[in-house]
Amino acid sequence: MIEYENLFLLNEPFMESYLESFSDTLNKGWFILGNKVSAFETEFAAYCGSKYGAGVASGLDALVLALKYFEFPEGSEVIVPSNTYIATILAIYNNGLVPVMVEPDIDTYNIDPAKIEEKITPQTRAIMVVHLYGKPCNMHPIMNLALKYNLKVVEDCAQSHGATYKGKKTGTFGEFGAFSFYPTKNLGALGDGGALLSNNFDAITKIKALRNYGCQEKYYNDYIGMNSRLDEMQAGFLSVKLMHLDAINAHKKKLAKLYQDGLKEDFILPQVHPDYKDVYHIYAIRHPKRDKLRAHLLENNIRTEIHYPVPPHRQNALKNRLKGAFPISDLIHQTTLSLPVSYCHTEAQVEQVIAKMNAF
Ligand SMILES: *Cc1c(COP(=O)(O)O)cnc(C)c1O
Repeated sequence: MIEYENLFLLNEPFMESYLESFSDTLNKGWFILGNKVSAFETEFAAYCGSKYGAGVASGLDALVLALKYFEFPEGSEVIVPSNTYIATILAIYNNGLVPVMVEPDIDTYNIDPAKIEEKITPQTRAIMVVHLYGKPCNMHPIMNLALKYNLKVVEDCAQSHGATYKGKKTGTFGEFGAFSFYPTKNLGALGDGGALLSNNFDAITKIKALRNYGCQEKYYNDYIGMNSRLDEMQAGFLSVKLMHLDAINAHKKKLAKLYQDGLKEDFILPQVHPDYKDVYHIYAIRHPKRDKLRAHLLENNIRTEIHYPVPPHRQNALKNRLKGAFPISDLIHQTTLSLPVSYCHTEAQVEQVIAKMNAF
């Protein structure tokens, strides 16, 4: 069986270093907001080419806290792609704000900059972009629009650790880059975790207060905060894994290249462009008979995933709130299939997947 992902195999090469870090934390007896969290914040910000970082409890919390920081008036509008993982939209609702959905570009699956301007109203305060599947968004036109209309930009980088747009890493264009370290992400912890990056010292200082009950000095509370901290244990594991992130991304890229060169023309493959250095968190192809293809692969002992089976505007939680038609999102959701592309997969396994795909 070729699995879609195997978190044991993925982490096995780092096990000894994890155990060392674990026993170090245990021996020090300091579990919340200690040296390991601040070291990881510095290392991860440096890796991305950003000035400051703040570890938080999850990717969703990173997005929630980024919006909380701005204190937009209730009911303000935030522009967001219509085909994102639901967390991006939940972060907007969790702040009492209104998501305004913009359809993606059918070739990149990322928000279409040409469709943003028509959705901007006097209530618009921010644009949340999502670098979906690990491919950076077309950031220059987006940043130009933000400048023109005085909008804040928050980047959902949960799938794009290390990806670059015109040589600059995702998470460094907007006011905040929001990251998830959910175990399956390219930089995954051994549990939940997240981070915000920013070049604005005051912004990160306030985020560090907001993640810790709104306090900067213990027992003195300046803001209505949350408890959303990255813990020492996870920060230690993340520092270990960060040293291997480039190798993880390079391996995924190598597997993606095999698919790109080997798959027959029937499949719509991810767009490749020198300005967009994709880290292939997900290798998604499209095919009109996606469900049959998926069944065919399973019969051949190959597991795949669908990211995602139901678009946000058709989720029970949101369908009465998100009005309008989103046909491009619908089309992507109906035809997309994610192929095995993990750090734990071998080239031989991917060649096997390619052979079975081409036999379909
Ligand atoms: C995983 C993910 C999130 C949420 O991250 P968590 O750490 O699970 O809260 C947000 N946005 C996108 C695009 C994601 O893929």
